This record gives sequence, C-alpha cells and structure tokens, in this order.
Amino acid sequence: MNKVLTHLRILRPYSEPAFIETGWIRLIDGRIAAFGEMPVLLEPEETEINMSGKLVLPGMVNAHTHLYSTLAMGMPPPSRAPVNFRQILESVWWRLDRALDEDSIRVSFQAGLLACLRTGVTTVFDHHSSPAWIKGSLTLLADVAREMGIKISTAYEVSDRNGAENFQQGLAENLTTMERYQNDPVVHPMLGLHASFTLSDESLETVRRALDDFPETGIHIHLAEDITDHHDSGERGYQSVVQRLSEYDLIHSHNLYAHGIHITPDDADTLFNSNANLVHNPTSNANNRVGILNGVTLELLGYGLGTDGMQANLLDEARTGALIRSSKMTQGQPNVDYLKLLFENNPRIASKLFGYNLNWIEPGVPADLVFYDYQARTELSYENWAAHLLYGLGQPDDVMTDGAFMIRNGDPVGIDGREILENARVASGRLWQAMEKLK
Ligand SMILES: [Zn+2]
Repeated sequence: MNKVLTHLRILRPYSEPAFIETGWIRLIDGRIAAFGEMPVLLEPEETEINMSGKLVLPGMVNAHTHLYSTLAMGMPPPSRAPVNFRQILESVWWRLDRALDEDSIRVSFQAGLLACLRTGVTTVFDHHSSPAWIKGSLTLLADVAREMGIKISTAYEVSDRNGAENFQQGLAENLTTMERYQNDPVVHPMLGLHASFTLSDESLETVRRALDDFPETGIHIHLAEDITDHHDSGERGYQSVVQRLSEYDLIHSHNLYAHGIHITPDDADTLFNSNANLVHNPTSNANNRVGILNGVTLELLGYGLGTDGMQANLLDEARTGALIRSSKMTQGQPNVDYLKLLFENNPRIASKLFGYNLNWIEPGVPADLVFYDYQARTELSYENWAAHLLYGLGQPDDVMTDGAFMIRNGDPVGIDGREILENARVASGRLWQAMEKLK
C-alpha cells in the first residue's frame, strides 16, 4: 500500500533544499516517489502516517566495519600488552577471529546489525574473517542482513596468515557469494583481502586471475593502515602498497580501500586517477595509534567514513573524528568536514558500488529513512543543521528500510532484540573462553 509520511522536518545534508521545516514524503513500493512542503493532497488509495514533527534523515552508511568483532566489547585483554600494530593483530583480532564458530558468528552478525539499525545505519560494508568457519559465513551474513532490512556488502578477508588451504577456502567463499548475489539489489558481494602485508605475490596473482571472471566485482582491502604495511611492500621490492597492488591490477574504481594512511604522493595521484573509493576510520586509527590521515589527501580523494568495528554509530564517528583531528591542529586551521564524509561521500560510494542510488532523500531512491523526535534547545535552521547533527541528535526513534519500519518508537519490528542480546551475552562468554585456549 502506498503511504505518505506527513508533518516531517526533512533534513537532506548537502542537497538542495537541505531543510524543509514542515514536509511530507510519498512512498510507492518501498521507494521515495516525491517529497515536498506541506500541505499535501492524498490520493484515494494512500494512507497517511502522521510523523508529528519528527526530524528525518537519509539512512546512513558504514563504509568499512567488521561485524565479526561485535562480541569483543569488554573481553579480557591479552596477557602481555601489545607494543606494535602486528602484535595488536596477533594477540587480539587474529585470536578472536580464529575462535569464532557458526553460533558466535551468527550472533555477532545479529547483534552487530541490530546496533547499526538502532543508530540509523541502513547500509553496511562488512569485512569478515572467521578462519575456523569460512564456508557459508557470507551467506549467513546476507541472510541476517536481509532479515533486518539492511543493505549489506559482503567480503571475506583472504590472507596467507592461516596457511594456503585457509586462503583457498576464503577465496572460494568470496567467489560463491559473488556468483550467488551478483544481481541482488540488497547484497553487494566484494572480494575481500586482509591487507597487502599478509598476502604473497602468488596470492595476489591468484586473486587477480579469479577476478577475470568477475570484471564488475571490486576488492575490499586494508590499505597502508600502519607503516608496517608500507615497509613490507618495500621489503618485497615495491615502492609502496599501492604500487604493489597496481602490479596485480588491483587498483580500480570499483574497489574499496580502508585507511590509506601511509601512502606516498604518487600513490594519492594513482588512487585519484583511478577514481578509487577510500574509507577513513578515525576512532580505530586513534585507538591503534597508527597515525593520522593527511587532511588534504582525505579531501582530495573524497574519502568515505567507516568505523572499522569500533562502534555502530556513524554520527558519533563523525563527531569524534573531527575532535581527534582538532586535537592535532593549531588554532585557526580549518578542520575537515566530517559530515560531508558521512552524508555526501558515503552515499556516493554506496550508490556507485551497489549500482543504483541509495541513502539519499530523492525520488526513485529506496525509502531508507531515520526519524528523530528531536526537541532542540536552539532553533534548527537551513544554516545551522550541521551543529545539530554533531551535537544535538541522540538515538533515532524510528528507522525505515525499503518503506517498512524496522524500528518503531525505539523498538525493533519483527526482530526479538532482547533475545539477540541474551544470545550474544552467552556466546561472548564461550567465545572468550575459546580465545583463552588458543596460543
Ligand atoms: Zn578494518
């Protein structure tokens, strides 16, 4: 049934008009058909949903995350504190991913995606790793995302770090998913690679050849996150990570690169000229102390925004990212516009990779919308919406995907949120014990 949402404050960051004080949105078959200023004349077969002055934003995108780390919050720290990037990976994340089994993976996906939905994130680019349970893991992710109404990009991080057989299993899982979901509007399969420094030249060549059968499919990879990755390419005889990936034809406009902190000016040119998609993850970078992404590079390459598994909330990532950068700047220097990464670059990247427009409030776009019962202490206007986004908004009250409410008045619809969290608490205890047993 067609619906018209009425009495809305419509906020469309970086679009024109950016703000409509009293608006309506018409939905036909799960898509936005039109929007405008009140009043609106309803067609006979249409249902009006009065949104009582709520503020509406387009559903947000997380352009790089790891749902497999959902159950990491509060887990016991490693026995010896890691002192460099590789040790952080080895003692924390590569033990966590090896300890995952089918049950803890399912619960990680459910609890992780529920947290996304609750903060208004409706499109997620995931980078998955579970070496002990690979086959079927991406299909499981696609199934859970579909149940929750979330658009998902899948990728299994292939790597040599767990041996040749494990690399082949990861590659096969990617290829199966690429085959199965290539024409699915809500699942965008990508070929995942962990990072250049855990992949041999032979493995990169294998990936390159595998992609011959899928010319439209992109890779999703960590790029020069830490200086370690850059040094590794040097030791293998390449000038940089980007130069190494170029040798294997792995720099393309449909690829997704997370971080890109330790790249050279030549690399920035290569990435710019290839129209590659990059993702900035400021809270993760701060947490891992890998350095701060150059602000000029960030703006030049039109980076998107991700959370790298640190949190679900993208508005919080934007606010914290801006503050982390500010803390490294001198007075009078202009900061990077983090809301632009979230509300302009992310929808552009998501639309390009999924192959159709999404995460905008525009006619023809899926009705993925986030509603806030927002009572501000200062007037929200055409000029000052950015401050309200960064410092005013809390959790959304309602979240809609493809025209259906998935969260209504704070509660999930058709999803048992309490059961998911109860299962997650049980599974996390088991997971942490399994980690203890791994050396
Ligand atoms: Zn990552």
